[in-house]
Amino acid sequence: MSKRPLIKIAKTAGFCFGVKRAVKLANEAPAKYSGCSISTLGPIIHNPQVVNQLAGKGVKPIGLDSIPDSGVAIVRSHGITRKLARKLDERSALKLVDATCPFVRRAQKIVAEMSRAGYQVIIIGEPEHPEVTGLISYGEPANTRVVSSVEDIPGDFFSSRKPSRIALLAQTTQSQQIYNEIAAALLTIKGELRCFNTICTATSDRQSEALQLAKECDCMIIIGGRNSANTNRLYELSRKCQADSYHIETVDELNPDWFADKQTIGISAGASTPQWLIDEVVRKLENGN
Ligand code: SF4
Repeated sequence: MSKRPLIKIAKTAGFCFGVKRAVKLANEAPAKYSGCSISTLGPIIHNPQVVNQLAGKGVKPIGLDSIPDSGVAIVRSHGITRKLARKLDERSALKLVDATCPFVRRAQKIVAEMSRAGYQVIIIGEPEHPEVTGLISYGEPANTRVVSSVEDIPGDFFSSRKPSRIALLAQTTQSQQIYNEIAAALLTIKGELRCFNTICTATSDRQSEALQLAKECDCMIIIGGRNSANTNRLYELSRKCQADSYHIETVDELNPDWFADKQTIGISAGASTPQWLIDEVVRKLENGN
């Protein structure tokens, strides 16, 4: 019988702090608000298995255009726009459970305070990402903008003779390298620059560990929703170092051919992958069931 490969599991695999908190709040809601209709404002996380499990308990995702007047609505970890938060506040019969990650909440407060104080607020991020649409809504439209690279910074920021006042922050899952490049470019502008490094290390730690594992192992399995951006990124990074990298959502997708003559298998998972999905994969690899 061939020897079973050694399995190395990333310590950072699976739920980050903010996602764990949001899923816990959603799981507790049916008992806490028994008899009420309970919904999440969009899928609570980018993992179909968790979303389906919650739906089985009566906690269902709804679109932002179909928010009910009563019952319980759960805000996911990305947060929501200021306009929507106010609209929800006006519905007195609707109980709001705010699962916005505290790190995202901190970034929202920075945008609001800096914008109100008259700074040009620059948010580094993906303009369409729900966390970013939420962040930008906390600033004044006239002085708050989103950039993805140095090229997105308006030319008049560099050419103006008047000293500027700029506040810089980032979507929590942005790359530190892009943040550093943009901060360095803004430092060349005359005036005041306030840098708030709002990048959450949960993402970068997970990526560094997966990269390290991909270098050490002869095969990598990345577990997580196909709709999860951070899982897809983890897979792309892993594939750069290890051609035998595979992205799966569930244990059923494991293919034994991938592991023939492999000695070490590395496992990591996106921030929205629950521990039970990781455990199922590990069990199958270790025991074959
Ligand atoms: S990645 Fe960081 S900021 Fe985003 S939800 Fe997780 S803990 Fe919060």
